[in-house]
Amino acid sequence: MPARSRVLGLASELGPIVGAENVLTESSALEAFRKDMADFEATPAVVARPSTEEQVGRILDVASRRRVPVVARGAGTSLTGAVVLDGAIILDMQRFNRILKIDPVNWYVQVQAGVVLDDLNQALRKEGFFFPPDPASSFLCTVGGAIAESSGGMRCVRYGTMRDWVLALRVVLANGRSVTLGEPLAKNRVGYDLVHLMIGSEGTLGVVTEAHLKILPVPSVPFVRMLVTFDDWPSAGRAIQELRRRQVMANLMEFMDRETVLAVNAAFHTNFEEAEATLLVDLDEPLVDVAEAIFRAHGARRFSRAANEAEAERFYTVRSHAYLAVKELASGVQIEDVTIPIDRLAEYLALVKEVATRHGLRMPTLGHAGDGNVHPTILFDRTDSASRAAATAASQDLCRYAIRVGGTITGEHGVGVQKVALMREQMHAHGAEEALRLMKGIKQLFDPKSILNPGKYVEAA
Ligand SMILES: Cc1cc2nc3c(=O)[nH]c(=O)nc-3n(C[C@H](O)[C@H](O)[C@H](O)COP(=O)(O)OP(=O)(O)OC[C@H]3O[C@@H](n4cnc5c(N)ncnc54)[C@H](O)[C@@H]3O)c2cc1C
Repeated sequence: MPARSRVLGLASELGPIVGAENVLTESSALEAFRKDMADFEATPAVVARPSTEEQVGRILDVASRRRVPVVARGAGTSLTGAVVLDGAIILDMQRFNRILKIDPVNWYVQVQAGVVLDDLNQALRKEGFFFPPDPASSFLCTVGGAIAESSGGMRCVRYGTMRDWVLALRVVLANGRSVTLGEPLAKNRVGYDLVHLMIGSEGTLGVVTEAHLKILPVPSVPFVRMLVTFDDWPSAGRAIQELRRRQVMANLMEFMDRETVLAVNAAFHTNFEEAEATLLVDLDEPLVDVAEAIFRAHGARRFSRAANEAEAERFYTVRSHAYLAVKELASGVQIEDVTIPIDRLAEYLALVKEVATRHGLRMPTLGHAGDGNVHPTILFDRTDSASRAAATAASQDLCRYAIRVGGTITGEHGVGVQKVALMREQMHAHGAEEALRLMKGIKQLFDPKSILNPGKYVEAA
């Protein structure tokens, strides 16, 4: 905990920049900024709530001069400790909440960093457009947080991650200066691609204040949303692999195991079939027959099509809220995010079960099976060091399997403080040590005093 006099000194410099009412120093007010959504915790020195790029620049100036770390914060839904830091200035970006322009010809939206993704999509739908990336936290998470985490989500199986949808950014650098990166154009070949350097940089290279994002017209092909159940996990995995082999592209291909569905039913008063494995699937109507035949050939026991739009929406919402239900099952939770080559999916699902049994842990499993990125959610007892150690060992087993088979330790949640050592291990195993050295040089160039989210991610690896 920083000395009170230091905090008050800092607050007295930040007050004139954002207004005293937008500087929080009381411990009761800081409480809401102490944790992320996997319960990584740390106590900030102060929270500042800027609303303009100029204010962000002046705050970074103060931080740089005083050498106080700064953590930009969207909605705080991070799962890796990326958004909490002891003694930091938290830059709460939620006042950057305006959609500036929807361009119906160039097909982009210009938006401030604090806009919540679902709010963005609500506005876009009124104009006949949508923004495809949809982390399951889209009802909370912000444009800036999703860019900084290069978030994925449920529609990734068809549309890719945030990395595929950002055209241009306004960013405030550690030295307080603002910069435009990229152009809101279909094509642009000027200079190194700093937009993509910023995407997935976890708040360590700059503070995003504004973005131009690609958008698409709402698809006109009718689609079918359904739940497909199986008696075991690998069968669901094999069905997905076969769909790929047969070139059937889904719009959603989400996995939930029995324990996840039990938790969901209890939390949301639903009555989904409590099968060993459930897939939530969206398919364009012309693909449904062939897909159902493939599912059946791989042991699907039941198909439940959404009867109408409201039910389709309910299926989607329940899946997107599933982590929140599962998280309540134990005092400690470590959500895994390895991504494996999709041809290994059935093998990986079998491994998850085996690892849970071997370590004596409950691991409700959910996530984006269609792109090889399911999330075993490792439950443990926070008060029991043996239970915590078992959770860490289980996580390492899964990550090391991914590294061995050419997968990655994180497909979308990022590294934060959770996976620094494993990131180093992956880069070493995959011949990327020189790339890591270059990355450290980039951090040094962008943030020579290391004030932006220090001690995490690339810098710490
Ligand atoms: C229920 C639930 C479901 C989830 N599902 C998914 C999923 O399907 N896919 C997925 O990828 N993730 C998922 N996540 C993780 C998380 O929601 C995403 O990473 C999300 O995009 C983070 O957005 P945020 O606004 O909450 O960012 P925060 O948690 O506030 O911040 C995350 C990181 O971004 C940085 N940051 C935030 N704003 C800015 C900014 N303006 N400029 C620079 N850096 C910034 C922070 O410093 C931090 O490093 C889920 C989380 C929960 C709780």
